[in-house]
Amino acid sequence: MNFEPLTLDRETDLLRKEVRAFLSDQRDFLKGGYIDCWSICEPAFSRLLGEKGWIGMTLPKQYGGGGRTYLERYVVVEELLAAGAPVGAHWVADRQTGPLLLSFGTEEQKEFFLPQIVRGECYFAIGMSEPDSGSDLAAIRTRAERVEGGWRITGGKTWTSFAMTCRYVLLLCRTAPPGSEAADRHKGMSQFILDLESEGVTRRPIRNLAGEDHFCEIFLEQVFVPENRLLGEEGNGWRQVMAELAFERSGPERFLSNFRLFSEGLDFLRTSGKGEIGARTIGRLAAQLMNLRQMSLSVAGQLQAGELPVNEASIVKELGTTFEQNLAEALRGPLAIEPGVDAGERMSSLLGKSILTAPSFSLRGGTREILRGILAKGLGLR
Ligand SMILES: Cc1cc2nc3c(=O)[nH]c(=O)nc-3n(C[C@H](O)[C@H](O)[C@H](O)COP(=O)(O)OP(=O)(O)OC[C@H]3O[C@@H](n4cnc5c(N)ncnc54)[C@H](O)[C@@H]3O)c2cc1C
Repeated sequence: MNFEPLTLDRETDLLRKEVRAFLSDQRDFLKGGYIDCWSICEPAFSRLLGEKGWIGMTLPKQYGGGGRTYLERYVVVEELLAAGAPVGAHWVADRQTGPLLLSFGTEEQKEFFLPQIVRGECYFAIGMSEPDSGSDLAAIRTRAERVEGGWRITGGKTWTSFAMTCRYVLLLCRTAPPGSEAADRHKGMSQFILDLESEGVTRRPIRNLAGEDHFCEIFLEQVFVPENRLLGEEGNGWRQVMAELAFERSGPERFLSNFRLFSEGLDFLRTSGKGEIGARTIGRLAAQLMNLRQMSLSVAGQLQAGELPVNEASIVKELGTTFEQNLAEALRGPLAIEPGVDAGERMSSLLGKSILTAPSFSLRGGTREILRGILAKGLGLR
């Protein structure tokens, strides 16, 4: 296990200051001070970030990208999340579709999609989970069949975040003949770039516990996808999806989803004369967060160095989401404030929102049990 400490250099400090200065001028976009801000879609805000060059930062300049490092992207993302900025619209495209297109896409796909992603104008959803296939992703049944000029896809996806607001979804499908999965379930899958406005696609929002409907179900009835929208090699879908999940699991969003509650809650404790219990709570939570951040930065440094720290990323997600899930309960007692979503009182609504959103933190991107399984295997314990 490698958690070599990493210190950010002067350039990244300057970049951090630049992002903070920009955010201080964006009061309208930040006034929600969102919990789980990477689920909130504001295309106008995404376009502003695109203008600043803060989307697709690590993509090559030839496709409009910033040609910058993972650590520079890390600093920008960290500041946006800490401010509770509504980054949901471009989130998936920036975090994983862009890098995936760069690795596996054709030249035509890169030239068409990457500049739009970088401008904050083209949004993607993740089409992996199906009604009977979440943790066991290799059990997917959505099937693409070859037809003249392309493919016809029939099946369905569920829990697809932002499918109502995105134009495209990166869809994992079976492409091998029916029955062939019996021999090897991980073979015969492929990824497609599906235009969600195609004929035969029906989208329906799903309302969550917090009353939001940013994820959806998608029904696909004989949907035609042209040949040039197959991503990567036919049959290589499993390997590509694993690469996609590596981007999905390792970032600071895995412990900063409710950073507004952390920051404002600790300020409240500090200034409201809560004495020793307040001081203890601040010390404990701040120490936990600082450790998580150091571990996560170490993972980012290894990614920058071209390594693939799968075990370390799994630990950060597991510990990070546990921290996020426990935060509201850890603060509620010392603050002596009851949670309530529409209570009109800032701290109360931050607590309420956090409690209602928390169950999803350890489900999305792979559940706690699945991550622990990966970790056990990685450590040779299973
Ligand atoms: C907010 C949110 C956003 C999401 N966005 C997307 C998205 O954009 N695109 C997408 O494709 N999916 C998305 N998902 C789906 C997510 O990836 C799945 O919910 C997750 O992978 C679990 O799958 P499942 O819901 O089918 O649960 P199941 O796989 O049915 O699991 C149910 C429970 O059983 C446990 N379990 C299952 N198998 C094992 C095992 N082998 N060993 C031990 N325990 C096990 C699980 O840990 C879980 O606790 C999202 C989910 C959430 C909550």
